[in-house]
Amino acid sequence: MTVVEHRLTVIRGAAPRRPHNARTLAALAANPGCRRRALMDAAGVDKGAVASRLGMPVSIGQMSSIALARGMSFEAQVKAEGGAELLRLLREHIGLPIAQAHYHDLNPADEDDRITSRLRRSQHALQEAATADGAVGTMFDHPILQLKVNGLAVFIEPDLVAFKFGDRLRVVEIKSFPIVDGTADPGKVAAAAQQSAVYVMALQEMLRGSGLSGDLVSHDVILVCPKDFTNQPVAVVIDVRKQLASLRRQLIRMESIESLLNLLPEALTFDLREHDGQATRDPEDLANAVAQVSARYSPECLGSCELAGVCRAEAARTVPVLGRTVREDLGGIDSITEAVELATGRRVPGQEQRQAAAILQAAYRMRQQALEAVR
Ligand code: SF4
Repeated sequence: MTVVEHRLTVIRGAAPRRPHNARTLAALAANPGCRRRALMDAAGVDKGAVASRLGMPVSIGQMSSIALARGMSFEAQVKAEGGAELLRLLREHIGLPIAQAHYHDLNPADEDDRITSRLRRSQHALQEAATADGAVGTMFDHPILQLKVNGLAVFIEPDLVAFKFGDRLRVVEIKSFPIVDGTADPGKVAAAAQQSAVYVMALQEMLRGSGLSGDLVSHDVILVCPKDFTNQPVAVVIDVRKQLASLRRQLIRMESIESLLNLLPEALTFDLREHDGQATRDPEDLANAVAQVSARYSPECLGSCELAGVCRAEAARTVPVLGRTVREDLGGIDSITEAVELATGRRVPGQEQRQAAAILQAAYRMRQQALEAVR
């Protein structure tokens, strides 16, 4: 075990590791300046359990058991009989000129099938397909991919099928939200595109690691969803180039975990000291440990991070709770009280606050004029 791995194990404590997935990677990349999330995710800490122990749980991405069952049944329907339905869809909606396709199941063979063995099998199968001559009609169900995040390799177990069409590998993402009259919930489509970008990048990285070109992976992802309110699947193509570029930028901006660990005490741990399945750690002691790692709260955290309640309470009455745009506009001003005092002229701005103070004073004047006009 390397020093970094040992430190991360101490930070996680006795709890089982929470692996990354495309959703957590997409959320991590959406807030690259947050050291707290970067550290906890690298260590595989159960952030939801930490938030619960601190009395501020926030549920993220949790589907009801009905929605979960519906999603699983839709995915099973699309992949049934060796992907026959999927193949029909791809021919019908995407114009895939393949009459038949081989179905390569990369799911675990049994309970002892280690993730590293599955990664090797996936690498072998996908590299072979990428370098084969011409179109290879093979679907790869649940391959294991790997991506470097903060200098650490993380496994991603995507719920996807990739297949080769022409000279490129394609990613197929199956989601259970409906496409009604050709339109779907934009937030859900954006989240699916962001997750798919993680898969595309991981596939590209896998191929580059074998000396192949990342261009062998298409940035056009095939999204399969139920049509209208039926169980009939429909496929659409989404271009994830924008999401890929943003993900790449954010991952580059992230600090390496090793340099982050160097700033923190060696004994730091988020261990909940569980006994008989119950957390026994003193919440105050846990809160002190959490506070040692800086966070970068913004309202978007509420939809993407289980610690949002904790970080929002910590950031109360500071400018970041008002959102990223306001934080950027009011650079150099930390608290809402300070912002109000600058706006109303009760505080003299420092050299670096003059520009923000002028904006605040102009906004305050406009507000006063609007209020007087309606009196
Ligand atoms: S909720 Fe807290 S830990 Fe999570 S991303 Fe936001 S600031 Fe970071």
